[in-house]
Amino acid sequence: MKKPLPRIWILATGGTISYRAVDVKQEGDFDQVRFSIDQLLPQMPEVEQAACLQAEQLFQIGSTSITDGHWLTLARRVQELLDRPDVDGVVITHGTDTMEETAFFLNLVIKSAKPVVLTGAMRPATGLCAEGPLNLLHSVLVASSPDSWGKGVLVVMDEQIFSARDVTKCSTYKVGAFGPTEYGCLGKLVRGQVYYAYAPVRPHTLASEFSLGGLEKLPKVEIVYGYSDCGATLLQAAADAGARGIVYAGTGSGILHPDVRQLYQHHHRDYPVLVRSSRIPRGGVGLNNFLDDDLHGTVAAWDFTPQKARILLKLALTQTEDVETIRKIFARY
Ligand code: ASP
Repeated sequence: MKKPLPRIWILATGGTISYRAVDVKQEGDFDQVRFSIDQLLPQMPEVEQAACLQAEQLFQIGSTSITDGHWLTLARRVQELLDRPDVDGVVITHGTDTMEETAFFLNLVIKSAKPVVLTGAMRPATGLCAEGPLNLLHSVLVASSPDSWGKGVLVVMDEQIFSARDVTKCSTYKVGAFGPTEYGCLGKLVRGQVYYAYAPVRPHTLASEFSLGGLEKLPKVEIVYGYSDCGATLLQAAADAGARGIVYAGTGSGILHPDVRQLYQHHHRDYPVLVRSSRIPRGGVGLNNFLDDDLHGTVAAWDFTPQKARILLKLALTQTEDVETIRKIFARY
């Protein structure tokens, strides 16, 4: 008897994978026409044959328009689907610009060992050599693989499998636009075969202490960029606008501008919780390394990029404002 096909649910949210190019060579911009997942799938018979698919258009937006509200809606829908015995895994199509953020948020709040895979495309659906269909096929294969269980939320792009924790968009235009922040990819796809070499060991999904339970809203956390002569103006603006947390994308090892240092050294209790990350993509920021976090009441982001640190800080702030506890969370995740 033939083995039944895995039952995979596709949630479409928009992004370039669904866009029509003004011209196939992509010399012009993309136009406003977007294809729904029901229009795209019939053009991808290989994807349709790879699993027993159900598809649903959840949003139809570019990923720079994703809000906390979209994250909560998406996460609730993913959880609902994974809780069903007739769903084996979920694939999410998403714009590439903030895919790593949505993936990391889901990685921290979803409670299931079943695979969740995000994918997208750099080339629009009608572009020459559009890579969306192959990325979607690979994502369905990864979501169907028993080896993907328990690995947390994954991003599949350009024949590579990444952990949501460690993936980032690192090119603005190339097809191979995604890469690891510090620790490499988990696996790859070769001729339709899913290969894993590594598994994430930091807490995610079932082992994460964060969940959707009772979460109606997420605390406001802003990112402030450090550069020469930046002063504390933008940080002050973020604090005045009601941020409960600030991620500082510092120079070098997460170094704060002297004006920001002054503020936090003397007044950190009156300011939002500050996480020190770095604007440098590799290397990270350690606690009390190159800056006295104890003196400044600040938190080290370790190897999280500013955009990932922002998500972890948002979730941490749903539980506590205690700096010591938040430090422990950053060290653990
Ligand atoms: N602007 C698009 C988005 O993030 C880019 C993409 O999907 O590649 O939605």
